[in-house]
Amino acid sequence: MSDRSDERGSRGTVAKNAAVCCCCGKNFREVRHLVAVTNEIFICGACLKLSQEVIARDIAREAKEAGSPALHPWLADRTAKFDASGIRKVFDLAAKMTDPINLSIGQPDFAVPEAIKEAAIAAIRGDKNGYSVTQGIAELRQRLQQQVDQQYNHTDRRVLVTSGTSGGLVLAVLATVNPGDEVIVFDPYFVMYPALVGMVGGKCVMIDTYPDFRIDPDRVAAAITPRTKMILLNSPANPTGAVAGEAEIGALAALAANHNIALVSDEIYHEFCYDALFVSPAQWNEQAIVVDGFSKTYGVTGWRLGFVHGPAAIIDKMTMLQQYTFVCAPHPLQWAAVAALDVDVSEHIRAYRRKRDRLVAGLTEAGYSVTKPGGAFYVFPQVPEGAGTGSEFVARAIENELLIIPGGIFSNRDTHFRISYAASDATIERGLAVLAELNA
Ligand code: PMP
Repeated sequence: MSDRSDERGSRGTVAKNAAVCCCCGKNFREVRHLVAVTNEIFICGACLKLSQEVIARDIAREAKEAGSPALHPWLADRTAKFDASGIRKVFDLAAKMTDPINLSIGQPDFAVPEAIKEAAIAAIRGDKNGYSVTQGIAELRQRLQQQVDQQYNHTDRRVLVTSGTSGGLVLAVLATVNPGDEVIVFDPYFVMYPALVGMVGGKCVMIDTYPDFRIDPDRVAAAITPRTKMILLNSPANPTGAVAGEAEIGALAALAANHNIALVSDEIYHEFCYDALFVSPAQWNEQAIVVDGFSKTYGVTGWRLGFVHGPAAIIDKMTMLQQYTFVCAPHPLQWAAVAALDVDVSEHIRAYRRKRDRLVAGLTEAGYSVTKPGGAFYVFPQVPEGAGTGSEFVARAIENELLIIPGGIFSNRDTHFRISYAASDATIERGLAVLAELNA
């Protein structure tokens, strides 16, 4: 303790009740002039400043040695919980290419249907450019609520329009996950999940789903602890394209209900189901929180339009959180979303099914081990034997102008790679030719 009445600092005799800086030994009149580092150690302002400078210098040196940019001393601890460098490297490399074969993109390649564009333009011209109510314009909310009521017939299920599916996920996690809470996530996972859970101080409990990316409810049951707050489900899935069946989703829904755990279902790819009808855990679990959006179905990823539905009390809090963060989803585009609900995208879905079949056949022919995905627009093959890690394999693909994403971005393993077939048939054929070469 620094508040010592009869000790000596290095600079002479200490006055009664004086305090001593544990670092430079200088005497101060009172301990309140010092900063507590721990219960035992107190230092003066000058030493504190010096130590901060030394720490900042050390961090900068370490970052330089590790080849990453230096951290700014103002950054909060939560920013250290995630790193986007892997995916950024792919895009940095892509920027240098003149004619890349781009199979890395997570958004549809089809044009936004005209009726939707026209509705957006009409809303802007019609001066619907101010804020909307936080929960979303009544015309859109009521249409979505009708759909949801028809599907599930839950008395307590309420809709909220959000700023993208991402916005819905942010609000759902902010509203439910306390620091130290555990969130069950299936590996491979959508990159945002661990980042988001980390940002609120939660802990991801990963359940490995290799090699076929099926959900095993027994493994989920075994992972549940008193701290488990949420199960985060994504089907059809990014990056695997896996679609969970009735048996798996029904079992998960029952498990969440029996343990009183929030089940959050990210259904952004719900339209992209090729072999079976889409199933939601909300069919079995009245309390499931569903996060969905317009980005992928209508090719409007830049519009930032999504929606959530779930228990009214949770949606109420999420609405308040939206009020203090995103404020509202983009207002004129909410009018375009109303128009989108009447647009039939089945032709695009059929085209993507055909692209999936072609890509899976081409990869199998070229000797890749690949689990046929039932949905979304991704295939997640294994790196061939002897071809190194996912990152090493992708680096070679990029040398050959093919842009794909290493599996390690989405997983604790770096053994696979993600191909997006949201691309023209010609691009898919060029990509297959490079992949065949790489496994020759
Ligand atoms: N969830 C998943 C699984 C996704 O793949 C994405 C987008 N890649 C999102 C959510 C975010 O979608 P949005 O554009 O609606 O925010």
